[in-house]
Amino acid sequence: MKKLKKKTPSLPEERPIGGLEQDLKGALNSPEKSTITGKVVMVSPLRYRQEGTLAVRSLILKDQKTTAKVCLFANNAELHFNHGDVVKVSAVYKKQYNQRTQLTSSPGTVCEMVGDSLQVEITEEDKQKGIEDPDFSDVLPEEMQTKDIILTDFTDCDVYQCCDMPPCRRKKISGNKCPLCGKESNKSAKSYKVQFLYEVDGKKDNIVTLFQNTIEKIIKESADFDTKEDIISTIIEKLPIRFKAAISNNSFVNVSH
Ligand SMILES: [Zn+2]
Repeated sequence: MKKLKKKTPSLPEERPIGGLEQDLKGALNSPEKSTITGKVVMVSPLRYRQEGTLAVRSLILKDQKTTAKVCLFANNAELHFNHGDVVKVSAVYKKQYNQRTQLTSSPGTVCEMVGDSLQVEITEEDKQKGIEDPDFSDVLPEEMQTKDIILTDFTDCDVYQCCDMPPCRRKKISGNKCPLCGKESNKSAKSYKVQFLYEVDGKKDNIVTLFQNTIEKIIKESADFDTKEDIISTIIEKLPIRFKAAISNNSFVNVSH
């Protein structure tokens, strides 16, 4: 019986969950997901999207041939990266952004440090690529500075049907469908928002609308509510609520106690 040649492409069902291991150039040109390894050239500050619930961080990675920008989300974004770390990132896809091809992670992405396993030197020229990209600006925007905040009262709240797919992060159902993934509402998945009054920098009665993910971080427990009455009775008991957070896009991020 003839032996199979080593270079035979793997069938889709044989491919590893994180995608084929590729160099950065291969991943930037692949229509499929890849697992990549690169040395950290630049690390962006941590930023937040989706009402402050989704952490986002970009890296510039370099291997023997190429540099590439890689976007990380959630837990992967919150890892600590140093210049010169070698990281392995699974399940990344190429994506066009601002007329450049970059790599973006997916919900299944795993990011791990793999020691100094790459013989790659980082040059000033590599760093220039980051400086031209606003994502890597080292200046912490004022909106990311943490302040003492007190929730003093609330003025309104609402319970609504939400998408139950984890990546949609409790998106409100609209017209019986999730506006993000298109899945039909299952009616039982509910989320809520509460409009609070808060005090910061000695100024009282500022208004903010907070969603479930942020409220759970602030009260340090998971809290599901079926009715407005449930929300009101629970929240009234807890007020005033003190914590530290940065104010970004009229919500609170980087919540700590
Ligand atoms: Zn959805």
